[in-house]
Amino acid sequence: MAEWPMPTRIAGIDRTMVSGDDILNGDSMEFCAHSNLELSLDRWQECHWHLHQMEANYHEPEPFRYSLNSFIRAVKEVPLKLQNDLQRHPEVRARIKPLLDTVLTNELFKILGKQRDFIVHHGGLNLKSRGQIGTTEGRKIKLSFPFAVHPWETSDEAYERYKEMCRTDKFLRGLGPDCDSAPALWRTWMMPQFPDRDLLDVAFEAWTLLGELLSGAVEAFGGKRFDLSMRCRHEPELVRIKRYSQQEFFMAVDGIDLGAEERKWRERKAQ
Ligand SMILES: [Zn+2]
Repeated sequence: MAEWPMPTRIAGIDRTMVSGDDILNGDSMEFCAHSNLELSLDRWQECHWHLHQMEANYHEPEPFRYSLNSFIRAVKEVPLKLQNDLQRHPEVRARIKPLLDTVLTNELFKILGKQRDFIVHHGGLNLKSRGQIGTTEGRKIKLSFPFAVHPWETSDEAYERYKEMCRTDKFLRGLGPDCDSAPALWRTWMMPQFPDRDLLDVAFEAWTLLGELLSGAVEAFGGKRFDLSMRCRHEPELVRIKRYSQQEFFMAVDGIDLGAEERKWRERKAQ
């Protein structure tokens, strides 16, 4: 039987999914607790993987939607798999009943439960998703303003449109990068069912809730609580932003080679 949890590499991140160095050191109680929950833990681990896919595909509409749908499918299955796992353990079922109720009455799970096959269809993210464009100086945001990043276009396509507009619109160009700042684009995926909430946050909340539930089940079998901080999660602020090259912007929009300008300036200064 496979051990749980395995140290897993996801998107280049080398961390154990459930912080479990002590688990891997293999105490038999721990192993027993996890092997009793094999189906549900496996599905929950799958949720984790899909969440990273959502992060990695955040700036590509279709891959993002596919990852979101996979996440939703896996999330919905965790409580069902847990029921399978616990078929012959009524005492554990009774102990975790309050945790299961918390999951089932949670707003997210109620929404997912309403439709048998809750799937975000093409266009399902169109209404609420938002975009912004602006400039950064180092790590700081210098200026940002709303810019229609269409839900059907990649962030790179939106950025190309923005540069094209800057070529003809002096005012817009004036708000763009100068010698000290670089262009950046932000986007946020939202849907009407979860108003004003980035879907990454919604997904993380769902993962955490299920983690509490499974952690409770592991504890009921005599195992240790999970660490649910998901340290390998990327900062949502950093996922939403896509930074672009200042040099490329000046060249493409103004026809100015910043590198050559700087060399000329240094030569003049040296004379
Ligand atoms: Zn991870």
